[in-house]
Amino acid sequence: MSLRTSREILVTPGPTMIPHEVLGAMHRPTVDLYSEALHEVTLSCLADLRSIFRTAGDMYVYAANGHGAWEGALSNVLSRGDTVLVLESGQFAKGWGEMARMLGVSVETLPGDWRRAVNPDQVRAKLKADKEHKIKAILVVQVDTASGVCNDIAAIRDAIDAASHPALLMVDVIASLAAIPFEMDAWRVDVAVGAAQKALMTTPGLAFVAANARAKAANRKAGLRTLYWDWQFRDGEEHYKKYCGTCPEHLLFGLRKALDMIKAEGLDAVHHRHRLLAEATRRAVAVWAQGGALSLNAAEPCERSDSVTVIRLEEKHAERLMDFCRNVCGVVLGVNIGELSGQGFRIGHMGDITAATILGTLGVIETALASLSLPHGKGGVSAAIAYLAQATAPASSAGTRGPRMAKKKAEAPVGA
Ligand SMILES: *Cc1c(COP(=O)(O)O)cnc(C)c1O
Repeated sequence: MSLRTSREILVTPGPTMIPHEVLGAMHRPTVDLYSEALHEVTLSCLADLRSIFRTAGDMYVYAANGHGAWEGALSNVLSRGDTVLVLESGQFAKGWGEMARMLGVSVETLPGDWRRAVNPDQVRAKLKADKEHKIKAILVVQVDTASGVCNDIAAIRDAIDAASHPALLMVDVIASLAAIPFEMDAWRVDVAVGAAQKALMTTPGLAFVAANARAKAANRKAGLRTLYWDWQFRDGEEHYKKYCGTCPEHLLFGLRKALDMIKAEGLDAVHHRHRLLAEATRRAVAVWAQGGALSLNAAEPCERSDSVTVIRLEEKHAERLMDFCRNVCGVVLGVNIGELSGQGFRIGHMGDITAATILGTLGVIETALASLSLPHGKGGVSAAIAYLAQATAPASSAGTRGPRMAKKKAEAPVGA
């Protein structure tokens, strides 16, 4: 029995579905590497990325995936023998720390819980104890894609300040950039790392590192610099220096289109769309969770990411549910990874995601739960619809378009 065709809805948390406009923008002949027009595309993309990172700092683009940008960030500000502090809240900051270790950096970890965000009080205590300021940089993710936890970067900044510690704050925003608010300059983040294939809706292969003046000062003393990653080389005027070689032209054409689409929608509206569709997802999961078999991984409502939802489901059910969604209905859910491997699934709701994508996905999951007779509370999709109906109702729309950060705190999301 099949209810699907070749067209799939891919709700994995990266790479995400690429809009047809972006695919179309890449379908064009190669242009001369030395053309002024290509140089202009690079400069305009860097400028627009700065506005999405919300920084007046320097922006670097690498022909690499996110792991590449991790190395680009570390090698530009650190030296062999330096110490970094990894703030754990799942898988990804630890992975970044592993990379630092292989570069010859000492790694200390503030242990965390896969269900909770980094605790800023513990960060402050840990830094206060480092009286000699041995720790040169702090590595943290804004959203951990494996746990579905969202860290409060502004609060972590405050904790560093409260400890009067000079370490650089380095933030991985790969799974949150252009999905939820990030304020590089206002939160005094020194280095931020992003990638193209998540909420930026472009193919894997482009990654970004933003650096402020403190990071640039650290770069002048960094012993781990290599020519390929080095910011000083890339600061050169010639276009090829921006890539340390050939510009990945077609990836850039795709990115240019994706940035145009984000601009046309408006960054605030993009964030708002992500917030509503994420909350609709959580409302559905909360109802299903009443059946006892399944639950949201992130324990605290205010720590749940608006870009990915991580769902726990007993191992014996998870594979059957995901197979049904894909094979019968054409919806590809994300597998759980790391500590949660095999135990549940992930719904990526970032990038080119609409109400139809999410309601379709939730409807298919609910169909799977019923068809496979898995224990679940009835009416998850109805709860998601009720939430979206209320959030988009003309009478309440004035109230839902206020400042995002204030709004997020004021609104109590449901628990599961
Ligand atoms: C996807 C992801 C990465 C890794 O990106 P790659 O392109 O797979 O190297 C790193 N950090 C976070 C938070 C991610 O979601």
